[in-house]
Amino acid sequence: MLSSPLVRRMLLILGSFGVLCLVVLGLVSLSVTTTDGVSKLRARMFVAEISLLIVGLSLLVRLTSRWVMPLVQLSQAARILAEGQYPPRIAVEQDDELSRLAHVFNDMVQKVELRIEELKSNQQRVTSDNEQLATVLEAMVEGVIAVDQDEQILLANMAAVRLLDLKTFNVVGRRVWEAIRLPQIHELIRTTLENDAQHRLEIAVPWTYSTVAVVASRLPGSPCPGVVLVLHDVTELRRLENLRRDFVSNVSHELKTPLAAITAYADTLMNGALEDHDVSLTFVGRIAEQSDRLNSLILDLLELARIESGEHIFHVDAVDVNEVLRASIDSHQAIATSKQITLAADFSEPKLRGQADSEGLRTIVDNLIGNAINYTRPGGKVVIRSRREAPWIVFEVEDNGVGIAKEFQARIFERFFRVDRARSREVGGTGLGLSIVKHLCQLFGGNITVKSQVGQGSTFTVQLEASE
Ligand code: ADP
Repeated sequence: MLSSPLVRRMLLILGSFGVLCLVVLGLVSLSVTTTDGVSKLRARMFVAEISLLIVGLSLLVRLTSRWVMPLVQLSQAARILAEGQYPPRIAVEQDDELSRLAHVFNDMVQKVELRIEELKSNQQRVTSDNEQLATVLEAMVEGVIAVDQDEQILLANMAAVRLLDLKTFNVVGRRVWEAIRLPQIHELIRTTLENDAQHRLEIAVPWTYSTVAVVASRLPGSPCPGVVLVLHDVTELRRLENLRRDFVSNVSHELKTPLAAITAYADTLMNGALEDHDVSLTFVGRIAEQSDRLNSLILDLLELARIESGEHIFHVDAVDVNEVLRASIDSHQAIATSKQITLAADFSEPKLRGQADSEGLRTIVDNLIGNAINYTRPGGKVVIRSRREAPWIVFEVEDNGVGIAKEFQARIFERFFRVDRARSREVGGTGLGLSIVKHLCQLFGGNITVKSQVGQGSTFTVQLEASE
């Protein structure tokens, strides 16, 4: 506190005052000594000097504590406040101008403290709101892009970057035309900025092979401060819609063909062919054939619908795979023999237990062995193998039949896809068998693959989770 310039100045004044008093009194005592030479009087003068000094000093102390100290405290508090900290309250004891000033200062400090705390809590709230908003935006599956009226990007979440495959992650602050290379989006933003309504658009993003639906809405305010775009990936939705459309048209076509044949044979019979015993026998045979085809088609469609319904109709458990394979081989033996095709089994272990539903597994095996027989020429061979390949139980159906060209190998699992329509029809195929097989394998937690060469034959390999 003594280092304060104010204190120093006061002490200097009072010190000078004390010294001046002493000098004056010294001079007076000197003059008294020279004129009177009385030592008694000198002693009295000395006492007077000391008394005057004591009075001066006590005056100094009083002045300091009453006037100087509050001022020093005030100046220190003001400095602390100016440095951005909260000063301690100044004690107010007297009732004079300085005390009132201290009072006012204390009030001011308290208000400043309250205001700063208010600002801090507002800032915290804004920060936490912003953090929450950022978290929500980043967690969203939908892309969100906000653009101002100058078409400058204000915000773009990760989903938007991913959906439009924006090459740079740092798109904020860039112009739309600079960051997004899709003219339809620029047009959409411009239209939305100019018109009040909400606008929608579906865009094919060529470089990601995806379809993105964009909804553009104006940000509130007048004049319009910008536009917010919400983007959804509708690729899968459109794919499923197309699949459904294709499926419906395929089913109609597949049902129409045997029905048209049945109608034609029936009409011919009614128009006189009935008279001819041989012809009518042939035509009735064809009608029965087409009815069988219709029946298999409807059964396959029902099976597919059952699998796809997602209902828990299958009971996946440990199944003896070899037992199912053997049962299917036995049931196909007669037809194989009639087509001069050898059916052989090659099991690496007598018992192999895999995770499946036994009825579903039988459907898989029947389809694969049936196809192997259907697409193998007379004199051919079909071998059914099984083995353990941890963590899987693997079985395969290998034939040395017509084979499947590379470009069709992935497509044969699609519904109604046939490499050779005429041949499939000839062998009574519906085009749904492998589609059912694939769905079932996936349902059991396994999978199916094919290896094939045209003219050499095909091998279908199924993996099932091994059971303990
Ligand atoms: P399909 O009822 O026509 O046999 P699938 O779904 O079972 O229908 O098979 C789809 C297509 O895959 C068949 O039409 C056929 O072209 C081909 N395919 C299936 N299995 C074999 C195989 N073992 N050898 C050659 N081609 C096959």
